[in-house]
Amino acid sequence: MNKIKYCFASMLFLFGAMAFAQEEGEAKEQREPGHVNQSKFKQLYEEFSTPNTYRSASGAPGPDYYQQRADYVMDIELDDKNAKIYGEETITYYNNSPDDLEFLWVQLDQNVRAKDSKSPLRNGNGVSFAYMAGDFAQTYVTEPFDGGFNIEFVKDAGGKPLSYTINQTMMRLNIPKPLKSGEQISFSIKWWYNVPDHTVNRARSGFEYFAKDGNRAYVIAQFFPRMAVYSDVEGWQNHQFWGSGEFALPFGNYEVNITVPADHILDATGVLQNRDDVFSKEMMKRYKQAKKSYDKPVLIVTQEEAEAAEKGFSENKKTWKFKATNVRDYGFATSRKFVWDMQAVKIGGKDVMAVSMYPKEGNPLWEEQSTKAVVQTLKTYSKHTFDYPYHKAISVHAKNQGMEYPMICWNYGRPNEDGTYSDRTKYGMISVIIHEVGHNFFPMIVNSDERQWGWMDEGLDTFMQYLAEQEFGKNNPEVIAPNSKYPSRRGEAAKIVPYMAGDQSHISPIMSNPENVYQLGPNAYGKPATALNILRETVMGPELFDHAFKTYAQRWKFKHPTPEDFFRTMEDASAVDLDWYWRSWFYTTDYVDIGVKGVKKYYVSDKPTKQMEKYMADRNITEADLPPLVYLAEEDSEDYNPDLKGKAPTEVSQNLKEFMMDNMSVEERAQVKEPKYFYEITFDKPGGIPMPLIVEYTYADGTKENVTYPPEIWRKNDEEVKRVLSSQKELVGIVVDPKAETADIDTANNSWPKKEEKSDFDKFKENIKG
Ligand SMILES: [Zn+2]
Repeated sequence: MNKIKYCFASMLFLFGAMAFAQEEGEAKEQREPGHVNQSKFKQLYEEFSTPNTYRSASGAPGPDYYQQRADYVMDIELDDKNAKIYGEETITYYNNSPDDLEFLWVQLDQNVRAKDSKSPLRNGNGVSFAYMAGDFAQTYVTEPFDGGFNIEFVKDAGGKPLSYTINQTMMRLNIPKPLKSGEQISFSIKWWYNVPDHTVNRARSGFEYFAKDGNRAYVIAQFFPRMAVYSDVEGWQNHQFWGSGEFALPFGNYEVNITVPADHILDATGVLQNRDDVFSKEMMKRYKQAKKSYDKPVLIVTQEEAEAAEKGFSENKKTWKFKATNVRDYGFATSRKFVWDMQAVKIGGKDVMAVSMYPKEGNPLWEEQSTKAVVQTLKTYSKHTFDYPYHKAISVHAKNQGMEYPMICWNYGRPNEDGTYSDRTKYGMISVIIHEVGHNFFPMIVNSDERQWGWMDEGLDTFMQYLAEQEFGKNNPEVIAPNSKYPSRRGEAAKIVPYMAGDQSHISPIMSNPENVYQLGPNAYGKPATALNILRETVMGPELFDHAFKTYAQRWKFKHPTPEDFFRTMEDASAVDLDWYWRSWFYTTDYVDIGVKGVKKYYVSDKPTKQMEKYMADRNITEADLPPLVYLAEEDSEDYNPDLKGKAPTEVSQNLKEFMMDNMSVEERAQVKEPKYFYEITFDKPGGIPMPLIVEYTYADGTKENVTYPPEIWRKNDEEVKRVLSSQKELVGIVVDPKAETADIDTANNSWPKKEEKSDFDKFKENIKG
């Protein structure tokens, strides 16, 4: 090693040690208490559970990963006249866990609507300044709706009654002997309940009544007793269904026969087994056409036909038979009011049918946009995750609904009675369809526990929804305003600022149970979606992010992931340490606020600075005792001499000149660009979230330079960092986060020189002068 370089390195060490010693001396005078490691960059070992053979540290399923299975054979009958639904089901439950189970838990979600439900009693709020009319009527005017399950029997495989205990929305089956690991058990349940009017009761499932023609349109789900999840992370997931935290369900195969009035149109989860029985010849012909139609939907039932059917009220019945393989739930929609269209879409070399079903009240919007939105969803989501594995995806129009089930979902977006509609209705409808069809991927296939983690499906889905909406806008320019992009409601960084800047006493960390959060929308949808969008576009970049996100989807499709499986996989597949990001965005209510605090100007000086002189005097040494040094003099200090400004460093510093002569070749010297301006810039961070420090520097000649310092710049000082900038040109402006991509909640501190908002009084004074 060159002697001079060696000495220089040891001098730097010396200066560093000196600064440290000074700080230590100050601290001794007023000793502060110790502290634990609160760095945002601390790894998440304490928050995460220890990896094991079920779930690997990489975030992938481990070698002993298991999941339970529940198969259903069901006969369902809808009594349209009385709005009641009857069912008899046989569940076969497979215990793939290593544990013996002494009892089984079955979910009775409809009991949240039972007369004696505790759900309304836990509301601790006082009087509201306004009420939804339906809510008001339900709470204060009418008798509570009696929508709970009536269990007629629970029997074992031999037909003998099986003991059970109902605790609100959960039913414990008291099986006579434990279900051993590797064993299976079959049992049957007979039940019925009153179907609620979902437009009045704010239910995820029910009917809408159309007074003008006397018909109902049904969207039916959570309608049958369903097995709870038993897993390595939770044991039985038997947290009650209170209304907000959605569902946790095992995969299985379904065989479902649904009997409805003969003039009803019906679609459901699964492959229709008896199309010839339930389709007319004309419908069959159109269906075959639709299977070949890749560019536009084909009407299976026209609006004219649906309007004619509205008048029928057939006394006869028809049974629609379905089989579904590897689904976690079941839903269906039925009415004589439905218009029905379908088109084919190629996904990974396979044909999928994109399907829409809507009453005439949805037109003209629904025939124009619904199936188009389904097609875009399947394409975008498949590209970013895995090929959509089911044979169809159905979008059903139901007033005020936005709810998802395997292969089928309910969506709002209703035009005015005269057929006109606002942009708000149109975009709301396209967006909700993309969102709900998108739920096929999260959580219907990547089967997370919605009861515990609302964000795992809603956040990931809302993030993907943003990507699909933007592609929808590009592919359907005629639908959006000219020269604009799709107006996504969520996803872009700026959209989450009002929430993150809001009242801290009403914000919860994303990692909270959906029942306990103050604002479920931003908490489970908006913030996680934005966090992922910023992660993709600003922190990781699309290439690294997309690969990692796809890896997560591929690893956990048809399985039950936890938040840690997601967090770990995103790092495992990208080599980007993201613990700080998960910790800040998902485990805290911190916000982003980064600014530029001040700028000091320096020039190369030939004389030691005052600080250097003191250093030498304290040690009784002179410059001759030290290796050759270069000094920077601050403009606003006694070290400064105006002659220094704008000079080339070698012009001023003899030491530097000699160093270059001794250590560099003529060619090397010819290539140096000597910076004439030096700046020490202080950036501060009032917000708790460390983010990449994105800076735009503007120079006197009008040129701009963009530099992104990695988030790790904050790892040792979470409040303030300094950067030294050397330049040929004079610096005239600094902007932090110039493209507003970090969700910075306060941009008043983002510029140097400060952009001062003139007060009205100042403007008034200027006018007087003028
Ligand atoms: Zn959702």
